[in-house]
Amino acid sequence: MKRLRFLGARRVEVEDVDIPRPQAGEVLVRVRASALCGSEMDAFRGPDAMAGNPGHEVVGEIADACGHPTLREGTRVACHAVTGCQRCYWCLRGYELFCENMRGYSNAHAEYVAHAAHHCLPIPDDITWEQALMIGGDTVGVAYHAATRAGVRAGEEAAVLGCGPVGLGCVLLLSFWGLRVTAVDLVPYRLDLACSLGAAERVNAANGDAAEALRALNDGRGPDIIFDCAGSPKTLDVALRSVRKGGTVIIIGERGETPIYPSRDIIHSELRILGSWYFLRADFWGMVKETRRGLRPERLITHSFSLDDAQAAYELMDSGQCGKIAFTQP
Ligand SMILES: [Zn+2]
Ligand SMILES: [Zn+2]
Repeated sequence: MKRLRFLGARRVEVEDVDIPRPQAGEVLVRVRASALCGSEMDAFRGPDAMAGNPGHEVVGEIADACGHPTLREGTRVACHAVTGCQRCYWCLRGYELFCENMRGYSNAHAEYVAHAAHHCLPIPDDITWEQALMIGGDTVGVAYHAATRAGVRAGEEAAVLGCGPVGLGCVLLLSFWGLRVTAVDLVPYRLDLACSLGAAERVNAANGDAAEALRALNDGRGPDIIFDCAGSPKTLDVALRSVRKGGTVIIIGERGETPIYPSRDIIHSELRILGSWYFLRADFWGMVKETRRGLRPERLITHSFSLDDAQAAYELMDSGQCGKIAFTQP
């Protein structure tokens, strides 16, 4: 079968490998679509080759159910990429993200994947492949998990820092839920896209201090809630300097260390700072419900490629001139 391989230094190739053999508790899935994730780009740009690829957002049909009691050959599934041991305290509570033996699946950019059966989420008939790819992967999943953790409410003033795929997912979901969203990024293409997905305002951080522009919102008090989808020292600084007193900063992006001065940054302004990582299998069903109510997550996909054109797909992703990119297979 075909599988993508990262060669390092911004090169990828399609290689021919054996179809993976499912291990205990796994099934074989024939891939119909996989999505590029921003988290793959460090590996793409870095110097080292990989044994395969870091793809982890994938939908497809069960090709071999391996005796599973409910999954059948042909069942359409979204593969949730982070699994746990199914035995520990956190797994039994349905919070496998905290499992000591947590495992993240990769190599999604291939014709087949072997995947944990209990993380193959059956896709309802009225949900399309494109929709399932967006809500079964982290584009909307991370946004949904973070927004539900933060307890957002319609009418709130929100800012989204960083309009890569996850930031765009936040823009889409938050505006669908009735928050007034300001999108912040450096790339005009992504700001345009954010506005087309529901953002009410845009701030190009290349044109001056984004914190100043954000502080002007909400009658000069600043946003009620800020989603930091970049997580750089710079964006967290912008968030802490612009969120309203008593507001919420939720950190999703992961970009290294940053200094925080509790008195100045948190205590005197009584901020609520939350971290949010990935999303839960259980979140999928909430997103199915929102899709049925009209969320239209498929609008996040701006480009589709075949696996054979992967090099062009990653170069486009590297340029920032795109939303979500999908590899689709007939
Ligand atoms: Zn991802
Ligand atoms: Zn566990």
